[in-house]
Amino acid sequence: MRALVLHEWGAAPALEDVADPVPGDGEVLVEVRACGVGLTVLNCIRGDLGADPANLPRIPGHEYVGTISAVGPGVDRARLGETVAAYFYLFCGDCRHCLAGTEDLCDNLAGFVGVDRDGGYAERVVLPARNAVSLPPGLDPALASTIPDAIATPVHVAHRAGIQPGQRVAVVAAGGGVGIHMVQVARAFGAHVLGLDIDGDKLLYLSEEVGVDTANSADFDAIELPGAWGEGAHPDVVIDFLGSAQSLAWGADAVGLGGRLVVLTTFPGVDFTVSPRTLVFRETSILGSRYATRSELSLAAELVRSGRVRPVVGRQEDAAGVLAIHDDLLHGRLLGRGALVW
Ligand SMILES: [Zn+2]
Repeated sequence: MRALVLHEWGAAPALEDVADPVPGDGEVLVEVRACGVGLTVLNCIRGDLGADPANLPRIPGHEYVGTISAVGPGVDRARLGETVAAYFYLFCGDCRHCLAGTEDLCDNLAGFVGVDRDGGYAERVVLPARNAVSLPPGLDPALASTIPDAIATPVHVAHRAGIQPGQRVAVVAAGGGVGIHMVQVARAFGAHVLGLDIDGDKLLYLSEEVGVDTANSADFDAIELPGAWGEGAHPDVVIDFLGSAQSLAWGADAVGLGGRLVVLTTFPGVDFTVSPRTLVFRETSILGSRYATRSELSLAAELVRSGRVRPVVGRQEDAAGVLAIHDDLLHGRLLGRGALVW
C-alpha cells in the first residue's frame, strides 16, 4: 500500500510503498477514505506530542475516516463494512475515567494515533476496535474527516463551558481550522456567536458564509462587541484558540458575571495573571479543554449529518499533494481544514 512515512521527527514524510498492516487481538483494519490535515498533525510530525526514536518509522495522521475491511481476534465480525472515524487518544478502557466515559482523561493514556501507532496518511491502517467510532453512512469522506477532531473538540468545549441557548459566546482565532467549526457548534448549542480573528478574508468568510457576527482582534483593547448583544453586554463564554498572554488576559476580563474562559492552547512559557478578587466577585471560571470523548465524537457526526454544522475543508489533495497543504497551514493560507483523500 502507499503511505506517507516519517523517518525522523520533524522531517517531511515521504510517499512510499509499505507492507499492508494486519489487525491483531482487539484491532480492526481500516481502509482510509480521507484524513484531515490541520495544525495538530504538524505538531505530531514535529515531535511535540512525543519524539521517541523507537516509534520510527511512523505514519502520521489522526483525523481519519474509512471502512473496516478486516477484524482481528476478539472483534465482532459484524463490524466488517462499518464506516468509522478514528478516536485520537489511545485510552485504556478500564480506568475510572474511561469507565465514566471521559476517555480524554484516561489514567493510563498510551499515547496518540499517528504518534504512538500509525495513522491515516496511509491507504490502510490498524486501530484498536474501541478507537473506531461508528459514523452514520453517506457522509462525504473529506468533509467527514473534520468530525473526529475539528468538530469533536468544539463539542467538548461546548460541554465544558456549559453553553446554553441564548448565551453570548466569543471565539478567539475563529478563522482557524478548529475555530471555524467552534462558532458553528456554539451556534448549534443555541448561542449568539462572535468570531474574532485578524485575517480579513477569514472574517469575511465567517460573516458571509458561516453567518456569525465578527470583529477584528488585532488590538484586544479595541474589540467591538455586536450591537445586537445590547448596551454593556459581556460574553458569557470566551473560547481562546490563540493562547497569547494578551488574548487570555482579554478573555478573563471580558466575560461577564458567571462567565467562563475556555483555554485550548499549550504553548510553553505563556502566562497570564488573574485577580482572585475578580474571580470571586464575578464568579468567573477558567477552564482547560482537552480533545473530546468518544460520545462527543458521535455527537459531532450527528451535527454534521443533520446539517447543523457544515465542515469547512479548504483544500483536498491526494498523497502527492499533502505537503502543499502543510505549507498552506504553516503560512496561514488554509481556510478550515485540509484533507488527504485516498
Ligand atoms: Zn483509561
